Amino acid sequence: MAGEAHTFSPHAEVPAAVAERLATRLDQGLSEPEAASRLARVGPNRLARAVRPAYGRIAARQVADPLVGLLVAAAAVSFAIDDRIEGSVIAAIVVLNAVLGFVQESGAERAVLALRAALDQRATVIRGGGERELPADELVPGDLVPLTEGERVPADGRVVSASALAVDESALTGESLPVDKAVDPVPAGAPLAERSSMAHAGTGVTRGRGLLLVTATGEATELGRIAGLTEGAKPPPTPLQRRVQGLTRVMVVLGVVVTFALGGAMLARGSSFEEAFLVGVSVAVAAVPEGLAATVTIALALGARTMAARGAIVRRLTAVETLGSATVVASDKTGTLTENRLRVASAQPARGCGERELLAAGALASTARLLDDGGVAGDPVDAALVRAAHESGLTEDALHRERHLLRELPFDPERKRMTLLYAEPGGRRLYVKGAPEVLLARARDEGAQLERLAEQWAGEGLRVLAVADRALPDDLDDDELERDLRLVGLVGLHDPLRETARAAVAQARDAGLRVEMITGDHPVTARAIGRALGLPADGVHARVTPAEKLRLVEGLQSAGEVVAVTGDGVNDAPALRRADVGVAMGLAGTEAAREAADLVLTDDDFATIVAAIEEGRAIADNIRKFVAFLLSANLGEVALFAIAVPAGLGVPMTVVQVLIVNVLTDGLPAVALTRDPPSAFVMRRPPDRSRHLFPPLAWASLAGIGALVGAAALCAYLLGGSANEARTMAFATVALSELALVYSVRSPIRAAVHARRNRHLDAAVLLSVLLVVAAVYVPVLHSPLGTVSLHAPALAITVALALVPFTAVELGKALLRRRGWAIDPEHPE
Ligand code: ADP
Ligand code: MG
Repeated sequence: MAGEAHTFSPHAEVPAAVAERLATRLDQGLSEPEAASRLARVGPNRLARAVRPAYGRIAARQVADPLVGLLVAAAAVSFAIDDRIEGSVIAAIVVLNAVLGFVQESGAERAVLALRAALDQRATVIRGGGERELPADELVPGDLVPLTEGERVPADGRVVSASALAVDESALTGESLPVDKAVDPVPAGAPLAERSSMAHAGTGVTRGRGLLLVTATGEATELGRIAGLTEGAKPPPTPLQRRVQGLTRVMVVLGVVVTFALGGAMLARGSSFEEAFLVGVSVAVAAVPEGLAATVTIALALGARTMAARGAIVRRLTAVETLGSATVVASDKTGTLTENRLRVASAQPARGCGERELLAAGALASTARLLDDGGVAGDPVDAALVRAAHESGLTEDALHRERHLLRELPFDPERKRMTLLYAEPGGRRLYVKGAPEVLLARARDEGAQLERLAEQWAGEGLRVLAVADRALPDDLDDDELERDLRLVGLVGLHDPLRETARAAVAQARDAGLRVEMITGDHPVTARAIGRALGLPADGVHARVTPAEKLRLVEGLQSAGEVVAVTGDGVNDAPALRRADVGVAMGLAGTEAAREAADLVLTDDDFATIVAAIEEGRAIADNIRKFVAFLLSANLGEVALFAIAVPAGLGVPMTVVQVLIVNVLTDGLPAVALTRDPPSAFVMRRPPDRSRHLFPPLAWASLAGIGALVGAAALCAYLLGGSANEARTMAFATVALSELALVYSVRSPIRAAVHARRNRHLDAAVLLSVLLVVAAVYVPVLHSPLGTVSLHAPALAITVALALVPFTAVELGKALLRRRGWAIDPEHPE
């Protein structure tokens, strides 16, 4: 079949010819066994690129690091001055660092890709005459796929039936307006953008309905052909990633400046060039926080995984941290704050009509279908009306026996109504349902009484719809259909609040978030529900059209808010795209909304958004923690060198020792910090509105901590007997003081002993302590690492000095708590 695609142009053939060519039947599709055998032959309907991390790119990133170049040069110089052991150890650490980085980054990327796979599209297919749902992966050429508004087209195919069908092909052709689709063949030579008889994978149905006969799947689709072009596109860095990159650059500059200053000083004192170079490399290695960028990526990926476990699937990694800084959540009402399980709670026929007539007209103005298992498929409003009619004895069969559908004007939140036109024994008749004020304005009779009733029901939190019909004269002009309506009555639909919604709203407000409810529903209904949720009246926006929703989002943003917006419809896509975090409904949402969103909720629940925000804040906190942690070591080492070398005190640590601290004994706890549990405080403080990694005060204290580490290490160095003992003591002091400090950086306020347990961290610290002990006390390591065993007094001095920075920081925190400068809600003292 794939071979035939080149010679056969389905867009230029009539449907029957295409069906014959694909050996399928337009009335019932393929049989299941035939579909299975085709699937085995042509392979799954999916693009290969989406499932594997870009291993080549990740590997290249590990090698392309300037630091790696520097270290390779250092290893070469070591060899040149005949220090083969040091040269080999440096080379080994370079390789180890690259391998660790590769494993962690590809793991992170795999986790993110796996999440995307969890969002795999489902498709409806007609096989053997019956309709069923399956993963879009399993579609094969010859399958028949019904298309409806809001769905993504799952494969390339010939449009074999269409009713007001329009498709957004911007992803494929760049055309931003929806294009109409029809059954008529087009010339064989028509370019892709003009093949109105075809619909393509990756595009979305914006209006109408149709039936697609699949002609190509997977890599054979037009999307598959252009997919290669976008393959290398790397997502842009998140704001935090950018800030961390900026920080790394500052440290690199600092390293270069200190390197040249110290190297120059050494040369001036008569040191050899090689010696000066190795000290320079030590300083450069000391200054650069090597694990930082990778650790940020890992933290974000881990966060994405945790969010997924809580029901929020991240489509773009940026969403993880943007969620953490959200200040406003603009939420849908229906389905997010409420269950979207509508039931007809009250029905009031208009004068001269009966309740049965009202329910019949309501069902006839709906497109939902009753399923064999008792469920209802379709829009929840429609489903409620069809079910109510069914329960009063009006079966689908009874309603449709003597009618057939001529036309459908689908529901559209801008129009707030929906109309179906039928041919009946008595002539043509249309049935409309929609917002009462819209229908009343188009009714021929006066409806003041119904209007009052609608108002009253709305006050009880019901969603109120008016139902009307109209017998159509034969000679009627098309755009005049929905006027002169005869009101049949009102129905009031009850939608229970989600059990979790009220508590989640309260939690969000505790966290300083503004919750706004945006709904297309009536203001009175909306306010009643807002009240039940504990929302202030000005947080409720009713009768909002999707276009207004977009403007609302823009308004909030220009007032400086970071806005999370939820949406489910095709028309919500612009607002979702515009939002800082677009949140789509995974259950009720359309594929179009999911495509536009950064986050997809698998349960459509407002509480899940709040949980994701909590997670986002926790991750941003953790990123700050390990940045502070890693920097304190870097600053300490740079301070140590910057004092010892110009003062003529010799070289305080070897390149290898610096590398061991930065890559291993600091690297392991830093990764463990990405899993630090959130403080209970995380949702009890206002959102972080600063655009900085740390507030100025935190920078100052960070510099102070770095100076303390440097000073402690310098003391240790000065108290050592031989040069090697002195270096061993300096190395052990830096490494151990970091392993104590890691418990301090976990909270800027709370005492280290009160922090929640993090087993990963405890394990990482234990391992790091063992590494330090091994470096000092395992004889075979002495020569490669430039260490010696420390005797009891030297060891005691080292350990005591290593505890100085930790003790100082804890005392400082206690002082702050004493003064009441920082209040810790968990442990008020
Ligand atoms: P929400 O934001 O609450 O989901 P919508 O924008 O979907 O509101 O709907 C706006 C209004 O359109 C509703 O208040 C109702 O009057 C009307 N409406 C909603 N769904 C339908 C439907 N399936 N058929 C006809 N009218 C509808
Ligand atoms: Mg809706």
